[in-house]
Amino acid sequence: MIYIGNHVSVAKGFLAMGKEELSLGGTTFAFFTRNPRGGNAKEIVPDDVAALRELLQERNFGKLVAHAPYTMNLCSAKESVLEFSNRVLKEDLQKMENLPGNYFNFHPGSHLGQGFEKAADMIAEALDRVIKPDQKTIVLLETMAGKGTEVGGCFEELREIRDRAAIPEKIGVCLDTCHVWDAGYDIADDLDGVLDEFDRVIGLDHLCAVHLNDSKNTCGSHKDRHEKLGLGQIGLDALLRVVRHPVLQGKPFILETPNDNEGYAKEIACVKAAQEADRGSADEEKL
Ligand code: FE
Ligand code: FE
Ligand code: ZN
Repeated sequence: MIYIGNHVSVAKGFLAMGKEELSLGGTTFAFFTRNPRGGNAKEIVPDDVAALRELLQERNFGKLVAHAPYTMNLCSAKESVLEFSNRVLKEDLQKMENLPGNYFNFHPGSHLGQGFEKAADMIAEALDRVIKPDQKTIVLLETMAGKGTEVGGCFEELREIRDRAAIPEKIGVCLDTCHVWDAGYDIADDLDGVLDEFDRVIGLDHLCAVHLNDSKNTCGSHKDRHEKLGLGQIGLDALLRVVRHPVLQGKPFILETPNDNEGYAKEIACVKAAQEADRGSADEEKL
């Protein structure tokens, strides 16, 4: 089973997200826990969430990958931003417990000149204040492009944050193909090498989800501009090798490509076809 999907809007409620993803052929999806630019979150309607849970189970969805708003920055130098970020983390993580067993992904943030050491402590402390040993949600640190003072532009920084947290078992990593490429990891020419390095530094056990995007820019550009699969610098062949890589099987793959629903449906079909081709050839080998 391949778990592939895209970002869907929460505007029409939770069940509506599941139905929309089904209509696109998806088997997982991502959603913003509130407006991506910040602001207040909509109240949860228990019946609506219960209906989504039922649908996800019935249709064998993979784990969902919720995304925190971009404005959440747990290592900001600004007091007002920190206050907002810590509140969002707490509220949205609590909300995720209504959909137990899924992921809550966030950008580690930008240290704005305070330096990585300080930022890593701030992020780990913020996580320690809200992560409970019995929670059902795994929090994911996203690999970043390393733009400006962005934290998480190399695997070592993510390991460091995870190591400093009190309950690292509740913290995993989401690998964004555009971001790691822009950060300088050559997943087009040396995917095995990059995954080996991930394993050596963080451990593949902690790689929980993949953001599947092409990149408008070259490897190491530190830009973070997503492109449709196959139209960017990484290229379709390389991205499909990611999708088919043995160590990534069973993980949710989330498209964050600049698409409308028609474009997403096409990309989902393309990823599924690549996966099914593999299954076909594996069956042939058995015969
Ligand atoms: Fe992200
Ligand atoms: Fe991403
Ligand atoms: Zn990005």
